Amino acid sequence: MAQQYQVLARKWRPQQFDDVVGQEHVTTTLKNAIGQNRLAHAYLFVGPRGIGKTSTARIFAKALNCVKGPTATPCDKCDNCLEITEGRSLDVLEIDGASNNGVEQVRELRDTVRYAPARGKFKIYIIDEVHMLTTQAFNALLKTLEEPPAHVKFIFATTEPQKVLPTILSRCQRFDLRRIPANLIVKHLKEIAKKEKVAIDDDALAAIARGAEGGLRDAESTLDQLIAFCGNKIAEADVLSVFGLVAHDRIAALTDAVLDGQTTKALQVLKDLDDAGKDLQRLATDLLDHFRNLLVVTLGAEGVASLQLPESEMELLAAQAKRTDSDAVLRIIDALAAAEGRLRYALSKRVLFEIALVKAVKARDMVGIDGLLKKLNELKSGLQSSPRMGDVSIAKVASVAPPTRIREATPANSPATIEEAWAYALEHLGKVTPLAKSYLVGTRVFGLKGNVLVVRFDPEFADRKEFADHPRNIEILQASLKEKLRMDVALKFEVGEVSTAPAPKAAAASPAKLGAPAKATPPAKMNVDDFKNDPLIKKALEIFKGTIVEVRK
Ligand SMILES: [Zn+2]
Repeated sequence: MAQQYQVLARKWRPQQFDDVVGQEHVTTTLKNAIGQNRLAHAYLFVGPRGIGKTSTARIFAKALNCVKGPTATPCDKCDNCLEITEGRSLDVLEIDGASNNGVEQVRELRDTVRYAPARGKFKIYIIDEVHMLTTQAFNALLKTLEEPPAHVKFIFATTEPQKVLPTILSRCQRFDLRRIPANLIVKHLKEIAKKEKVAIDDDALAAIARGAEGGLRDAESTLDQLIAFCGNKIAEADVLSVFGLVAHDRIAALTDAVLDGQTTKALQVLKDLDDAGKDLQRLATDLLDHFRNLLVVTLGAEGVASLQLPESEMELLAAQAKRTDSDAVLRIIDALAAAEGRLRYALSKRVLFEIALVKAVKARDMVGIDGLLKKLNELKSGLQSSPRMGDVSIAKVASVAPPTRIREATPANSPATIEEAWAYALEHLGKVTPLAKSYLVGTRVFGLKGNVLVVRFDPEFADRKEFADHPRNIEILQASLKEKLRMDVALKFEVGEVSTAPAPKAAAASPAKLGAPAKATPPAKMNVDDFKNDPLIKKALEIFKGTIVEVRK
């Protein structure tokens, strides 16, 4: 007699607690309870579909009714075991709460529950999707549950525990079954493929696992369909084309493009996938999943083990994590998640997705204010050794009060000395851009040659000249000088020996108050443009290849 075709999920259904994939926390507890003979009257298995609730229930039934039972390892050979495996045991009644005859079956249950089991030790009622039972059926069931005969066991399963009546919940011992990690699904499918003599590569298995989203039964039926489509040789492309999934290397390519700031490349990958008819909603979810995993990896060792991903994916994530950090990944996730939610309703998914990718690339480039402060302080401490520098923090810059015009009036009697004029100009500059002023700490007026005022940087601080020598700064300084000196003055910076004592310290104490911090006048506000144009910020942006998105107050 030719062997009848059996779907893989049924053919390879676990027959022992130890064969149940990914639910050790449940099966171990059940084995222990059996071993210690601490059995409850009713059990409730909770969890999404296709992860082993009913399989576990059947194994449990065998464990209870095996001739050697109750035993944690049913023999699978005695009549009781065989009948339960084949679904024809008179002592094990399976009821599908979702089917119409639920009421009928529960009525039958109520009528027969008093009778002793036919062959085994227990009468076992397995009720799947128990939350779907009608109120009528529930009530009938409850009556029995309240005073169950000693020989009766109930095993309920549900995908929606919140819909199960509290009066039933309270009478059950509850077990929560988990979605099965992708690496365990891959491992399990690999074993099945081997036994079925099907050649299938790891990428293909990983793709199936990805599509199954933690459901082993879905993964098994996917493999079933693939064998039906492709015969006994299956590649990743087969899996993807059958299920409209996107190859993981495309997800990786999109991720790489975002991480490397290659907007054009990212858009090209998207275009190719869209042209190939891929499901963009699904792609968004997969891409987000990938970035979420990447986040876990960038955060460090602790969470990584919990990812339980196939090895090839872990390697990819590790390589990508080296090129980014958790802050950047978080910002990218924000950008993508915002789009994922709206994608479903978008008229043009492609356009929305494109915008999301561009935003994600930009999000990568953003430097958080904390990071900016830290880096700027690092920059500054590299630039400058004056202790005063620490006083001018970006926090101040970003949070200071509105601009105020500095005192308009100059002493009417006589023009100021060039030192006084320079001090005044510096003070004014400090109110407009404190950072720019800070570069000029330790400079000295060298002299006025014609109408060119020469200001010198001590060679020790030569690098500050580069930051300070900016047309905008010069313009502000010249205006102040003109105001004070009552003549047009061109300003010129030089690097050279400053004749009087060592620059920064002496400067602060000198009569001209060179380099002294701004007096207690209201600090100037720095608006976004000022902030952007500040040479230090510019330098910082250059270093980080960043763009300013907003200046927070
Ligand atoms: Zn047995």
